[in-house]
Amino acid sequence: MGFTRRIFVLGSTGSIGTATLEVVRHLAETGGPRYEVAGIAAGANGALAAAQAAAHGIRHVAMSDPNAAASMPTGVECLAGPDAALELIERLAQPGDLVMGAIVGAAGLAPTLAAIERGCHIALANKETLVAAGAVVREAVERKGVELLPVDSEHSAVFQCIRAGTPREVERIVLTASGGPFRTWSAERTAAATVAEALRHPTWQMGRKVTIDSASLMNKALEVVEAHWLFDLPASRIQAIVHPQSIVHSFVEFRDGSTIAQLSPPSMKLPIQYALTWPERTDGCSPTIAWDAMRSLDFEPVDHERFPAIRLAWRTIESGGSAGAVLNAANEVAVEAFLAGSIRFGDISQLVSNAMDELPARPVSSLAEVMAADREAREWARERAAERASAAR
Ligand code: NDP
Repeated sequence: MGFTRRIFVLGSTGSIGTATLEVVRHLAETGGPRYEVAGIAAGANGALAAAQAAAHGIRHVAMSDPNAAASMPTGVECLAGPDAALELIERLAQPGDLVMGAIVGAAGLAPTLAAIERGCHIALANKETLVAAGAVVREAVERKGVELLPVDSEHSAVFQCIRAGTPREVERIVLTASGGPFRTWSAERTAAATVAEALRHPTWQMGRKVTIDSASLMNKALEVVEAHWLFDLPASRIQAIVHPQSIVHSFVEFRDGSTIAQLSPPSMKLPIQYALTWPERTDGCSPTIAWDAMRSLDFEPVDHERFPAIRLAWRTIESGGSAGAVLNAANEVAVEAFLAGSIRFGDISQLVSNAMDELPARPVSSLAEVMAADREAREWARERAAERASAAR
């Protein structure tokens, strides 16, 4: 594979971003598709972004925290400020480039949409983008004729399994969930869990926000909504099942009753690499299954009473419009408040559910309308979180 393609890595200093740069290097060293890293964007970790620029010969960096811009090596142009990632894409992205969307949260939405509008293909890890603005993103992807390649391991699994048939032959998809650190805990103990306990994920090493989302199963809820937009399926045909070993990443059941699964040890490098080499496969850099050591693969139904998040996802899909922006924004606020120690773990899903009750879905057809719903839900959730914090004191 001799061609060189340009890639922008948004969220380069995070868990997915650093793994993406490692995969880019691995592909170059193993005769896979060659990528030139045309630019990176991150938040506050200027030291790591500077090291990445030096290591990968990157000349354009965008940092949302202006203080992080100071440490760039000479010869590196650094955009700084809250819209730096968007500016990077607007100034430099060209049709046919690949953009890895790995900024955490709704902050990833505007640069991802800008990249689509410029005719870039998208490798999407930032599930919040599709949850908040699925209809807007889908419309733009179809209008511009670009690829939207899933990076989330479950969606990459579905994407891989679907190749066993055609999209019209899919009966339903079943996303697997590790169950998180509280899988076997009682409802009372889970509701009072500490930040350290919630950050102790049994199978995946990830950023803080997605780790908390995994503990509440809100991550699976966001993924159910993400799957709806990626694979064009109604809520009734997207299910979730707990699979503690995180080896089977998802199932696709076809109309004839055949079910195809994708299996691999938990490592995000595989789905990242698949997005970068698709539609081909090249030598991997992720561990493979040690079949001799494998004894069992366990599955159990989701306990929707203890983990109500997935019901909120189905409700979000059925409501449509601004419901996804409300679900996502309220959850981002609730996770921040929990990490800051101001609300209890059990308050997270409750706050999101209340936000959906109080802010009914309305139609959205533009980024501006999505962002308005996002702001409204954030304000509402911040006020409620503050009330809970002062009531608990
Ligand atoms: P991390 O917290 O590890 O990284 C987040 C990245 O976003 C960092 O580079 C951070 O910069 C950057 N960032 C934060 N805010 C801004 C902003 N306003 N503008 C520009 N950059 C910003 O998260 P993960 O890598 O774990 O997750 C990233 C996304 O991928 C999330 O949406 C997550 O749900 C999804 N995902 C993650 C998986 C995983 O295994 N980690 C699996 C599947 C999906 P800095 O650190 O410099 O402040």
